[in-house]
Amino acid sequence: MVRCVLPRKELGKTVIDDSIDLHQFSKEHPEIQPGGWWKPRDCKARSRVAFVIPFRDRWKTLRVLLPQLHLVLQRQKIHYRIFLSEQSGNETFNKGRIMNAAFLESQKIFSFDCVTFHDADLIPENDRNLYVCPYMPRHMSVLVSTLNYTGFYNLLIGGVLEMNISHFRDVNGYSNEYWGWGGEDDDIAFRIENSGYHFIRPPREVGRYFMVEHKKAYRNPQR
Ligand code: UDP
Ligand code: MN
Repeated sequence: MVRCVLPRKELGKTVIDDSIDLHQFSKEHPEIQPGGWWKPRDCKARSRVAFVIPFRDRWKTLRVLLPQLHLVLQRQKIHYRIFLSEQSGNETFNKGRIMNAAFLESQKIFSFDCVTFHDADLIPENDRNLYVCPYMPRHMSVLVSTLNYTGFYNLLIGGVLEMNISHFRDVNGYSNEYWGWGGEDDDIAFRIENSGYHFIRPPREVGRYFMVEHKKAYRNPQR
């Protein structure tokens, strides 16, 4: 089978709609397999990507993200599977732990080429922001609507981060020690640099995301 050709232009538009019913969406998209995976049938996908979405109590943002993410990835002809990693109970949120846990579970299911850690509230706006596996860790969410699409700081790699499996293993994943809000993203930035890797980013006009409104999480005292 021929390898898939990557789209060079935008093939569709994302919509911001939190009234989409996820059960209805899954009925309308029987091509999405149970467990939330899909692969192109007419060509051989260039990348097999596990998506990890850390989650608790953010149904509104998830209803916007999931349909759009499925459609974008299918337009990009990515072989993907989406893992929703939900923290149960009411204890302090620990994003690093649930992302690490989902990564380990994903490894038992399929031999993915890379993994994308994806906030539940960031909606990719540009089809040309390709989720194909990167040769170096790639920070995808360069500009975000709530920050008026301006860059924040150079080491910022939170939001959407895609890494090869071997790189993620090399840096020993995320820290398990950041409770509450934030920190784990800056920490993995240092892990990546200390392991001799560097980040790459898509061009600013491509790496654009819309952030769905949500209430602010409690700040982590470390910050
Ligand atoms: N998150 C969640 N529930 C929470 C807090 C965080 O699901 O109560 C997840 C969700 O994927 C979210 C991400 O962690 O997009 C980052 O948290 P948040 O959006 O609050 O941080 P921000 O980057 O907006 O400050
Ligand atoms: Mn957010």
